[in-house]
Amino acid sequence: MFIELLDGLRCTADHPQIPLVAAILQRDDRLVVQGVLGCPTCRREYEIEDGAVWFRDRTGGAGTGELLPSDDEGAIRVGAFLAVADGATIALVGDWARYAIELAELVGLRVYAVNPPEPIGESERVGTLYSNNRLPVTDGSLRGVAIDEARWSGDELRLAARALSPGGRMVAPAMLPVPAEMEEIARDDRWWIGEKRGPLVALHRR
Ligand SMILES: [Zn+2]
Repeated sequence: MFIELLDGLRCTADHPQIPLVAAILQRDDRLVVQGVLGCPTCRREYEIEDGAVWFRDRTGGAGTGELLPSDDEGAIRVGAFLAVADGATIALVGDWARYAIELAELVGLRVYAVNPPEPIGESERVGTLYSNNRLPVTDGSLRGVAIDEARWSGDELRLAARALSPGGRMVAPAMLPVPAEMEEIARDDRWWIGEKRGPLVALHRR
């Protein structure tokens, strides 16, 4: 994973976020190929193997075994759903992750490809990680999150919404609940699109 994408990763345990510490075993210029990320707070360790970071057990392997036919318009579709612009950082989860490279080049984004169904390669813009229903990134650091996985609970989606900055968008399967932090702005039979509400501002009256 590109070193600047690694910098944005955080421990998934339930404690205040602080930067992880990287022990780099093998690197290719600014891409970290092999190493370990350690959490100074809870001492959890996350392996970096072939450039991908593992926040879940590696025994299940990388693929989910459910590879659907690729959608020629997939990158454009998810880019439009998230309404992202040049310079933003987003996360594409599950089947959406396969469009990470194409979308990153198309729009000029940085993308965390989370649980891609097959290896997608990496670049300075795109890094792969594996994590069960958690986005191991800094709170408020993402402009968009697109999830194509069916088994996220309402609480897990609420945690995922914390990764978004105010006004950031989330796309998720229509069957999943919309977290209270998100305002639903569109829905069809497959997806809902939500926008994260901004912080409440106190109104002072005399
Ligand atoms: Zn930790």
